[in-house]
Amino acid sequence: MNRGLIVVISGPSGVGKTTVARAVQASLDGLFFSVSHTTRPPRGKEVNGRDYYFVSQEEFRKMIERGEFVEWAEVFGHLYGTSKKELEEKFRMGDVLLDIDVQGALSIKKLYPQSVRIILFPPSLKALRERMLKRGDTSPEQMEERLKKAIWELKHYPHFTHIVKNEDLERTIRTVQSIIIGERHRRDRMEEEARRIIWEK
Ligand code: 5GP
Repeated sequence: MNRGLIVVISGPSGVGKTTVARAVQASLDGLFFSVSHTTRPPRGKEVNGRDYYFVSQEEFRKMIERGEFVEWAEVFGHLYGTSKKELEEKFRMGDVLLDIDVQGALSIKKLYPQSVRIILFPPSLKALRERMLKRGDTSPEQMEERLKKAIWELKHYPHFTHIVKNEDLERTIRTVQSIIIGERHRRDRMEEEARRIIWEK
């Protein structure tokens, strides 16, 4: 039986989850990133198959019809989803890290209640607004919509197992690493090894 962890990093857009998720994944052995499918076009240096699987609306819809997603959601006009194939593949390799929005995290909670679900909080709503402004890719109307959605998302914190305030990036990364390391050492996950040590001849 695979006793791997499913770790979700979630939170409102602009809170820094992708940066945190990427840094944590790169720093912990045995932790694999679940690459999502999306219909949004690639940004900057994003690479197909590493950051996302970039697909057309049509292809995404077909995947929904074929039941190929564990969860999917529409985020600001684009479709995003975690495929069963991706999750199974990464789960076979070890622990899996998902960087998904709050709707997605709620679906994962239903399917995998034992998952570790971390919600990132901004230091304040004012700070989140400033971060969103700095990104510079949103109109004032979109900003209001995003901020409203962010508050809705933050209010779902009771569905998460851990809350981390992202005030200082390095500290946030260390905290998330510690949570995962702590989870890996829970007795039920260590029991097999403990028994082997005790009973080995
Ligand atoms: P971005 O376009 O900035 O990369 O991502 C937009 C939002 O979609 C982020 O909140 C990101 O976490 C979320 N997202 C990325 N992949 C998935 C996914 O597979 N499922 C869900 N529900 N959200 C996702």
